[in-house]
Amino acid sequence: MTAKIIDGKATAARIRAQVKEAIEKRLQAGKSKPGLATVLVGENPASQVYVRSKQKACAEVGINSFGFDLPGDASQEEVETLVRKLNADPAVNGILVQLPLPSHLDEEKVLTCIDLTKDVDGFHPVNIGRLAQKGREPVFVPCTPAGCMVLLEESGAPISGANAVVLGRSNIVGMPVALLLVKADATVTIVHSRTKDLPAVVRGADIIVSAIGQPEYVKKDWVKPGAYVIDVGINRKEDASAKRGYRLVGDVDFDQVSEVAAAITPVPGGVGPMTIAMLLKNTLRAAELADNA
Ligand code: NDP
Repeated sequence: MTAKIIDGKATAARIRAQVKEAIEKRLQAGKSKPGLATVLVGENPASQVYVRSKQKACAEVGINSFGFDLPGDASQEEVETLVRKLNADPAVNGILVQLPLPSHLDEEKVLTCIDLTKDVDGFHPVNIGRLAQKGREPVFVPCTPAGCMVLLEESGAPISGANAVVLGRSNIVGMPVALLLVKADATVTIVHSRTKDLPAVVRGADIIVSAIGQPEYVKKDWVKPGAYVIDVGINRKEDASAKRGYRLVGDVDFDQVSEVAAAITPVPGGVGPMTIAMLLKNTLRAAELADNA
């Protein structure tokens, strides 16, 4: 079997075009331009790149972005005061606090300050709590996990009743994606660094979502023929023939696993582009919520 490639780049481009069109219609109807505030504390180079690419994507679809860069030694109170100011600003529909925060800051307290209706990253403890509760819905779902679900749905994977194995239990990917799969009626197992005989657990999966940050870790003989594979990992692998001396690979050994899976996301070009697309979608929704407030 040769797996169908799940094209996250194309799906993300379609979502971005839909968001752009919806914003044009908003403006024609005399409604406000959506606004996203980004809060970056310190000078983590990867975070700077992420924030810049989010701001660029906002501009492309017609979302105002407001960047707030605080020094790496900003106090808890300074960060919380800024978030509260943004909560009260009607031009700001979404607030994104770029994680990780410097270690002296209490991340949970900062995230808890964000107004629930502006929590476009979906990391407010109440939003995550609702994700874990039957019959409750979060106002926003975290972007990367939401992107994984869209790609799974697009792949045609039967989710209800499927055995799903999620590799990784982080707050930003593994745990919320597992909760989303439960909400979609899958039977979910989460595996992590303490799991015994991880390959045996993965072999039982109809759906595999991997978010562990280990290059090409998931091998062909761990994957049930016909399984659907979503690879969230973004890892550097040394490659002397590449211009930068490395190339990006996922957590899944793509060449091997694509021989047995029904469908698989590539890295790059799979889950990666979906994160920003879902953020734009969430920001548009936040503006729509503000219209009706
Ligand atoms: P974290 O480091 O926060 O979490 C990693 C998780 O994987 C932990 O639960 C850890 O277990 C588990 N783990 C690590 N090594 C192993 C192993 N050998 N076997 C089993 N479990 C293991 O990572 P993130 O969730 O933040 O990110 C995961 C990957 O996804 C990274 O490659 C990251 O770059 C990528 N990513 C991609 C995004 C995108 O596409 N837009 C967005 C966010 C992340 P334990 O809990 O026991 O320590």
